Amino acid sequence: MRVLIMSDMEGVSGIVVWEQVNGGAPMYEEGRRLYTEEINAAIRGAKRAGATEIVAVDCHGAGGGWTFNSYIPELLDPDCEWVAHHTWSRYTELFEKGCDAALFVGMHARANTPDGVLCHTISTTTWRNLFFNQDLVGETGINAALCGHYGVPVLLVTGDEATCNEARDLIGDGLTTVAVKKGLSRYSARQIPPIRARKMIEEGAARALQNLRATKPYVPARPTTITIELSTVDSASEFRGRHNVELVEPLKVISRGKDWLEAWNNFWKF
Ligand SMILES: [Zn+2]
Repeated sequence: MRVLIMSDMEGVSGIVVWEQVNGGAPMYEEGRRLYTEEINAAIRGAKRAGATEIVAVDCHGAGGGWTFNSYIPELLDPDCEWVAHHTWSRYTELFEKGCDAALFVGMHARANTPDGVLCHTISTTTWRNLFFNQDLVGETGINAALCGHYGVPVLLVTGDEATCNEARDLIGDGLTTVAVKKGLSRYSARQIPPIRARKMIEEGAARALQNLRATKPYVPARPTTITIELSTVDSASEFRGRHNVELVEPLKVISRGKDWLEAWNNFWKF
């Protein structure tokens, strides 16, 4: 069984402020240790479920050379391989080989979720709302759509309660979720201590992989329309003149494609 882990840092137990996730900040080293150990918990769970190839992808933009490069290598479980510093949400090698399931660890809620710890969608300031057809999505939705494009189901999402609810609404009740904290605001939470949170993630991963059909791959209906509602006119102007992209209102951009990936590629040319 081949398993892909996609991870972000904001949804990890113990993390509630930007200073813990921004490379170079004094609290960042603590944050990356907490982050790496939650990845290890998911890896242990996947191994218990019989995974024979586990690849973990760091999807957290920490800034500078730390971007998509926040795991502490020497702490990582030796039974995985990991992808560092790859373009965001573009690692498809495992999907092309054939991947049985994806597990998302440490995810955060979409922008403007009142109880979403460190919530945002792509940009912490300029993206207000993102829709795939009629679905209001955040980064969990983006990564799920990438997996879905290759027919890969997402079976586990961990993060705060708001993220877990957002993911279940999108992916369905067959999704296993592990909430390691409950947001009290964007920058505070009632939390489960890391030691217990890791046990819960290990159990969750092991349980989720018992049934590879518990969820269906997330595939937005085709043809696909993607809408971004932005906060500022300068961020909107970046989308002007792109193929198949239309600024339908000063702060609303629409992209159309024959499928999700084509529509996404009109926006996201990284
Ligand atoms: Zn992040």
